[in-house]
Amino acid sequence: MRLALPLEKLIEHLALLPGIGPKTAQRLALYILKYPRANAEALAQSIINLREHVFPCEICGFLTDVQPCSICRDSERDPSILCLLEESTNVIAIERSGFKGRYYVLNQHFQLLGSNLSEIDLNKLKTILSGGAVKEVIMALSPDIEGDILARYLAAAISEFKYLKLTRLAHGLPVGGDIEFTDDITLRKAIEGRKEF
Ligand SMILES: [Zn+2]
Repeated sequence: MRLALPLEKLIEHLALLPGIGPKTAQRLALYILKYPRANAEALAQSIINLREHVFPCEICGFLTDVQPCSICRDSERDPSILCLLEESTNVIAIERSGFKGRYYVLNQHFQLLGSNLSEIDLNKLKTILSGGAVKEVIMALSPDIEGDILARYLAAAISEFKYLKLTRLAHGLPVGGDIEFTDDITLRKAIEGRKEF
């Protein structure tokens, strides 16, 4: 038996998404087929819009549809604390914890194998730090060996800013776990209990 080609195509694409196996992909595709046509078209259009209108913020690197992003434009935020992260998804997690400083997203997930630290572009970060407003950089990196290596590399790379206080999230984060999937309370405690690096 061969499935209708458009159905097969959608299943194929859905199955490429993380956490979605072939069976779930098939279920979702059949569900979308039963959707009212307007909903299905809105779904397709929102995927196109996402790719056309969402970009990294020119200042902090967080995903945004306006430049600079709403966090960078928010004058209520404390400019003296900069939270440094690997991925935009981690900003969403840290936001949930109630953090009110600013962010810098590397938009690069460092992996021990096959990654070249020197490829990480730190020019923008250094420009922000040169402004002098930032007094503390919290390195909210993954709580594992990769995060440790990256933290040491970043600390050395910005060591010219001698007055900067460098901190890392307190332990208590699940080792090898992802900040993105850590609950709000654990994250809040990890930020409050951050340790000087
Ligand atoms: Zn921004």
